[in-house]
Amino acid sequence: MSAASSPALDPLRSRLIERLPKAELHLHLEGSVEPELALALARKHGKSLPGDADGVEGLRRSYVFKDFGEFVRMYLAISACLTEADDFAAIVVDLARKLAAENVRHAEVTFTPMTHVNRGVAGDTLLAGLAEGRARARAEHGVELAWVFDIVRHRFAEGAPTLALALEGREVGVIGLGFAGPESPEWPTAPYAPLFARARAEGLRSLPHAGEMDGPESVWNALRELGADRIGHGVRCLADPALVEHLRERQIPLEVCPTSNLGIGLFPALAEHPLPRLLAAGLAVSLASDDPPMFATSINEEYRRCAAAFAWDAEQIAALARNSVLHSFMPEAAKVRLLAEQAAVLAELHT
Ligand SMILES: [Zn+2]
Repeated sequence: MSAASSPALDPLRSRLIERLPKAELHLHLEGSVEPELALALARKHGKSLPGDADGVEGLRRSYVFKDFGEFVRMYLAISACLTEADDFAAIVVDLARKLAAENVRHAEVTFTPMTHVNRGVAGDTLLAGLAEGRARARAEHGVELAWVFDIVRHRFAEGAPTLALALEGREVGVIGLGFAGPESPEWPTAPYAPLFARARAEGLRSLPHAGEMDGPESVWNALRELGADRIGHGVRCLADPALVEHLRERQIPLEVCPTSNLGIGLFPALAEHPLPRLLAAGLAVSLASDDPPMFATSINEEYRRCAAAFAWDAEQIAALARNSVLHSFMPEAAKVRLLAEQAAVLAELHT
């Protein structure tokens, strides 16, 4: 699962990507832990991680996955090193540091609370760690964070406690209920409809993964049964013209994570990724990084790789960054400010 390094871009487009303030809408907290911090947390708690006998370089090599099973094993091994509120705060602050370095001002970050509750971590500990990390992210790095608590779809019994924690977490920035895990008809969406209806009635957004490992029917289910406000991935929608039309008419945003898609083998190469066709179909698309260190990427790297692969000009790059803001759930006043800042950067660099 190694990712190709970014092809060279001309200085204007490189600089524009670096300078544009942006939002990141599809990013998993537990999938964002850099090897250095993962190793420090493992040592703190006397745990081991795949490849860590050779130190941080060995661990970094183990971050290059051969298959989805290896990815999940690393994800869970890292999760097992998170025990105290301080551990959760530490990974949040480190994530904010990396986001700030790429000029991300607002991120909607997915977190899977039951992974940790199942290991014996109290819900209050999770919320305290996220609250502390979020406050420090704002104070130390100028990054606003919001949380999406997600349900793992083959663990039905965890749905209700996830929603309960999400509702409790609204005061520390939870804005949505997510839905991830094995996307397959074997684990249907319909049983979760009442939970998502309640979440929406309580002001949370419905933010399921769909159209990644399964096709258009899965996206329809996310829309009809979960009332999806945005779709995580959605890249397989093109197989159904009626679905494309539905998504286009309603401008339901897709959070597209190209390198992650390649990493799990959905498409053989970026040149064959459907992103240009999604854009040509008039769909609402933003770029995101999913689990950046585990797919050897970052949000700016996604912009660079796509700009190079699809020959995007400055306007097209700026349009994607604009979408990230427009499709976010940040307050309206913050959106207006960020859009104005983007326009100023574009005007300064592209006149
Ligand atoms: Zn994801």
